[in-house]
Amino acid sequence: MRAPKIDELIKTSDVIKRAYALSKKLHESQKRKTGEPYFNHAVATAENIAEWGLDEASIAAGLLHDTVEDTDYSLDQLRKDFGDEIAFLVDGVTKIGKIRYRGVERQVENLRKMILALSQDIRVVIIKLADRLHNMQTLGALPPQKQKRIALETMEIYSPIAYRLGMQRISGELEDLAFPFIYPQEYRWLLSHVKEKYEEREKYTDKVKPVIMEALRKAGIEVISIDSRAKRYSSLYKKLLRYDMDVDKIYDLVALRIIVKSIEDCYAALGIVHNLWPPLPNRIKDYIALPKPNGYRSIHTTVFCVDNRITEVQIRTQEMHDEAEIGIAAHWAYEQAKQSKAYLEKKAISADKKELQWVQQLRNWQKEFNTPEEFIESLKIDFFKDRIFVITPQGEVIDLPAGATPIDFAYQIHTDVGNACTGAKVNGKISALDHKLHSGDIVEVMTQKNKKPSESWLEFVKTANARNHIKAALKGKAARLDKTEPKETELRVIIEDRPGLLKDITDIIARSHVNMTAINTITNARYPIIRIRCDFVNKDKTEKLIVKLKKLKEIKEISFVLV
Ligand code: MN
Repeated sequence: MRAPKIDELIKTSDVIKRAYALSKKLHESQKRKTGEPYFNHAVATAENIAEWGLDEASIAAGLLHDTVEDTDYSLDQLRKDFGDEIAFLVDGVTKIGKIRYRGVERQVENLRKMILALSQDIRVVIIKLADRLHNMQTLGALPPQKQKRIALETMEIYSPIAYRLGMQRISGELEDLAFPFIYPQEYRWLLSHVKEKYEEREKYTDKVKPVIMEALRKAGIEVISIDSRAKRYSSLYKKLLRYDMDVDKIYDLVALRIIVKSIEDCYAALGIVHNLWPPLPNRIKDYIALPKPNGYRSIHTTVFCVDNRITEVQIRTQEMHDEAEIGIAAHWAYEQAKQSKAYLEKKAISADKKELQWVQQLRNWQKEFNTPEEFIESLKIDFFKDRIFVITPQGEVIDLPAGATPIDFAYQIHTDVGNACTGAKVNGKISALDHKLHSGDIVEVMTQKNKKPSESWLEFVKTANARNHIKAALKGKAARLDKTEPKETELRVIIEDRPGLLKDITDIIARSHVNMTAINTITNARYPIIRIRCDFVNKDKTEKLIVKLKKLKEIKEISFVLV
């Protein structure tokens, strides 16, 4: 992918040129922790955005993304100077920049959803990813405490968001940049055990490339490029955990990647590779016919290659390659290019289409994830176009249906808080109890002892949870409502943590056809504890599941309670 430099970009657009000049002026006296001028960060962010093919409004917003937050330039002024669209983008990035991950496992999915819900426009998320990518590239300059927090947030929140938007390269890059800060020992182990193997493998694939090139040329297939792709440290580490830490069992440590012109050529090239070297059985993956849930398309095969060494080969078209690298951003760019003519004539229709695509992508996000990791997340995802995400004063994210009120919020925190509610503050201001909350609102509930709920609340509450508890309290039956028959089983699993363990656990549970309704991790104990709720009460079934789980050697102990 081309990587335009800022000098070129300012020549292409007057808006970008103005944003450049203003950002430079506003950040003039500021320095980053690396000692560089702060303005370099704005430029790097804008260059990332341009590389991913976004429009001039996004590039300008990238240049200006920190001005409202970090200088005395106001959003109103920005709107006057650059118009609604750029102001909207900068405001969105500023808003999601305030969301902090505090290391609570059960918050992770809510935080990801909240970032998307707050963004409203795919470009806001992409600008934020461009900003985060540069921050991660310069993370070394920050104090260790901050490094770890930002690295964790990147690993848990931003890299998965990028992945699900199909931006695999960015997702992988973010994860790889975060990895050494979160797992320093594991990283050192990898450097000492794998680095040479990488270099040796790369030399080897360099030998193989001309052989393939020649065979394809003879067959009349035009090759755009053949490259070696070294597996990233973070994903290698996860894979090693499943392969006894034996690097020689990892066939795709360095894979060959062939890029050709058309889908027909992909299959033809596959035939030619198999004609040169026999494939390993069951290792041919046709993600062109059956794309991965996040849209990834490519053909993978593993062959007994030159000197009989087992090597993975990936074959795809340029368009598939761009999509795999930058995902939804590529769709966005292709769509823009396709529509550029129609765009001038039918602006409204084109905007609708963009919106449609964005919604479609989110729908897919909910439905189509098949791996266990994604499965567990999909369990927690509701129809989140209809959800809002509000924050407690302690920073906990509470997920509510759209239209929910402070009363719904109060009951979501705890029945007693709901029953004793006398008033609420939204973003620091006293608010009516029937006020409709919005994503990103900070909500505080005021309570008074021995207070009873009011019957009028039933007219506006949105959640069944609040409605049931209000009715029960009015009838004086609150106690009975809380003491119903147990419906679920909660497993308490004490573990010695390692990357990928949670996935392995949920994998086993999913294969046992058990539905999980909630999962959270308590990490402040000596050994972390994972609590998993399953939607049944059955001692036999529970014990069978425990036997299966105990096969994972990192699991120290499992107990269960009925809830
Ligand atoms: Mn920034």
